[in-house]
Amino acid sequence: MRLDSIFEEILANVDNGYEFDTFLIGATLPRKLYEKEDHIRAKFKNRERKSIKNQLTRELRTRFQRITKKKIDYLYPDILMNVTIGNDNQAITVEATTKPLILAGRYTKKSRGISQKQTKCEGCEGLGCALCDSSGLSGQRSVEDIIAKELMSITQGHNPKFSWIGSEDKESLVLGNGRPFFVQISNPKTRRIPKDLNFGSDGVSVNIIRILPHLPVSQTPFIAKTQIFVNCKLAIKNDSLINLGGLRGKFVEFRSKTKMIHKQIYSSEVQRINDKELILDIIADGGIRIKQFVGGQEYMRPNISEIVGSECECTGFDILDIQVQ
Ligand SMILES: [Zn+2]
Repeated sequence: MRLDSIFEEILANVDNGYEFDTFLIGATLPRKLYEKEDHIRAKFKNRERKSIKNQLTRELRTRFQRITKKKIDYLYPDILMNVTIGNDNQAITVEATTKPLILAGRYTKKSRGISQKQTKCEGCEGLGCALCDSSGLSGQRSVEDIIAKELMSITQGHNPKFSWIGSEDKESLVLGNGRPFFVQISNPKTRRIPKDLNFGSDGVSVNIIRILPHLPVSQTPFIAKTQIFVNCKLAIKNDSLINLGGLRGKFVEFRSKTKMIHKQIYSSEVQRINDKELILDIIADGGIRIKQFVGGQEYMRPNISEIVGSECECTGFDILDIQVQ
């Protein structure tokens, strides 16, 4: 085995701009070698002997550690390099994969007309290709697109996966401290993100707050302050306004796919614009579907149409603030 040339191959691969503190080196050897090994083992009835593969990886790891001064991590290394030696014992390939980078951030949106989520690139179905500049996303402008493009360019990673704390409409604003989100980036080269990273465009401002060890395992509960624009078919009575204010402390009940869901309203302030239009500011548990809450579809109760005694429509809503619990 030409250990030196294998080792040089590894170093060349890593010199490609990877940032890491911990590593692991693995190996895939040609089958012929294993057969030979089995033969030797059988002959000497010796099971204690370390396998060729173990000897090789141990030697490579020790050498790599000595030269780079990085630590070995057997479970969750920043970078994993797998050495494959071809059947003819000649061809050596080294493939590096890095641990996903998980970031937590928030964004505000001060212009209407930009959707939150992005459709996937048609060229690669989200895997990342030349067409989409490795982002995996279609060219349509969105909050997701703005965040993904910037982070892919900083980290040289691929296939960003987003997890949002709630959602809004294309026409909604997101104000206050903004909406929190998590993003997981596959195979990043850079792991060191500037502290308190800020970027944005088209009225969207993004702040990357910190690096997380893993994605949150369950849905993060949150409370949202939402401004809802309501248009009613009939003239709104004074009693209705009082009743809308009385939503404070009540629970909104609706059915999800599997169970009944209850969300509490902590505050409700109503403002009449004219005979048929009003604005309702509510502070409530996150996850209430606003349009259904106004229109009363899908058995959401109580709902605004029912309280006002007229068919009402949500003409828009803005997120004024979001608090994670
Ligand atoms: Zn693509």
